[in-house]
Amino acid sequence: MDDLTERLTAAAASALSAVRSVVAVHEVSSLPDNALLATVTAIEDVGRAIDALRVATAAEVVERSRPSLGSDRLSRRKGCRNGFELLARLTQVAERTAVARARLGAGILPRESLIGESLPPKRPIVAQAMDAGTLGLDSATAIAFMLNTVADRAEPGMLAAAEESLVGSALGVDAETGEQTVPFTADQTRVQAVQWQAALDPDGVKADEERARVGRGITKTGSRGGLIRYRMELLPEIAGRLERIFDSCLTPKVTGRFLTAEEQAEALVTGDDRTPAQQRHDVFAAVLDAASRSAELPTIGGAFPTVLVSVGADELASGSGAGWIDGIEEPVSIDAVKQFACTGGVQKGYFAPDGRLLALGSPERGFTPQQRRGITLRDGGCLIPGCTIPAGWCEVHHVEEYSRGGPTHTDNGVLLCWHHHHTIETSGWEIQMRTGVPYVRPPVWIDREREWRRATKARTRPGAIQVEARGTGVEDERRVQGRVNELGVSGTELGVRRTG
Ligand SMILES: [Zn+2]
Repeated sequence: MDDLTERLTAAAASALSAVRSVVAVHEVSSLPDNALLATVTAIEDVGRAIDALRVATAAEVVERSRPSLGSDRLSRRKGCRNGFELLARLTQVAERTAVARARLGAGILPRESLIGESLPPKRPIVAQAMDAGTLGLDSATAIAFMLNTVADRAEPGMLAAAEESLVGSALGVDAETGEQTVPFTADQTRVQAVQWQAALDPDGVKADEERARVGRGITKTGSRGGLIRYRMELLPEIAGRLERIFDSCLTPKVTGRFLTAEEQAEALVTGDDRTPAQQRHDVFAAVLDAASRSAELPTIGGAFPTVLVSVGADELASGSGAGWIDGIEEPVSIDAVKQFACTGGVQKGYFAPDGRLLALGSPERGFTPQQRRGITLRDGGCLIPGCTIPAGWCEVHHVEEYSRGGPTHTDNGVLLCWHHHHTIETSGWEIQMRTGVPYVRPPVWIDREREWRRATKARTRPGAIQVEARGTGVEDERRVQGRVNELGVSGTELGVRRTG
């Protein structure tokens, strides 16, 4: 061992024992809170200083292993295909880690020009802050790569200002006044770096956008455990709209905004225990339902896009077994089949034992658009208290099950969102129609008294204006609407109470 190697080995050993003499791994769990946090920051200080040396040495190993050196390159002499493999073998880190360190080093540190004169560091402020042990690896990487990406196109003065500002924010120093601020986390630094990137290279955003336009897509990537996986690569404006839809329907406790007193009371009664991801899924289901009902959607063979679900009559009756959705390999539960039937309608096929089709029943349709409008006027949205899914995204549920003879009639149809429809048999919520007026009662774990309450989300004031509507269904609806037009008032101001 030469002198330097000896001194390094000794220094590493003494640094290690110095740290361990203060706190050892087995002592961590017994540290008081403040001591624990102090330990975290102190160890990170050491780690950052070590990282600066890791980055510099990794970059140098890769530099000496560059292909242009031919058979004389360092990696070749040590029997490795490149510098990254050599680093991985030396340190036992993943090659990915070696690549990240070496690239960062190459991106910030001084270089020699081809004729051997030394050039200034590429990112002097980042390099200096890393060397000082104040700027961490993640923040340095975010800043360096963003600036290097636009370096050729950005104005040099702006580029330097951006580097100073970004490093300043990461360290908690205002670049202009020198005042202390709260240091940015690495994630915040990355976000800020992207903003600078857009400012430094406005055309780059456009180029990115063009690339993104080509790369956009939704791809089915397989299935596992009864779930079908999709990969979605959405343009920012589409993602923005999707987020907006999710936000508007997620319960306030998930979106994190303050609740009004009314919402607080409602949040208490819903007892919604879905995760945010599950809620987003269910909102998506509701949106799909609304879209497939939209008259603007292209029709397939003259009919609105219909999802065909097939199930054996015995399985449907017994409730065990599975149904099959056209075009999807995975089976669906009988409950899901019933939900399809409840909302969509049924057509029966009679088969001989050898599989021959004997007869086809006529299609028994679900609620018509007109009936749906009437029900919407009455219910105003998903009937379950606290649920924020709007009427347009709800399914119409047969209160008395269709298969048990429940009629497809406005007096037997109520609005439920996909989730509450899906769980109506198991959630404990109950719905009852009393002469065409829906009442709900909560499960016992939400309301011990299990009181029936009249349920509506319609913003009309019952009884404000009475519209006589005798008979049922389509005719009522037309008369009600006709009356609305005559009166020249908007639907939200109109109260409709059915009599007779
Ligand atoms: Zn609901």
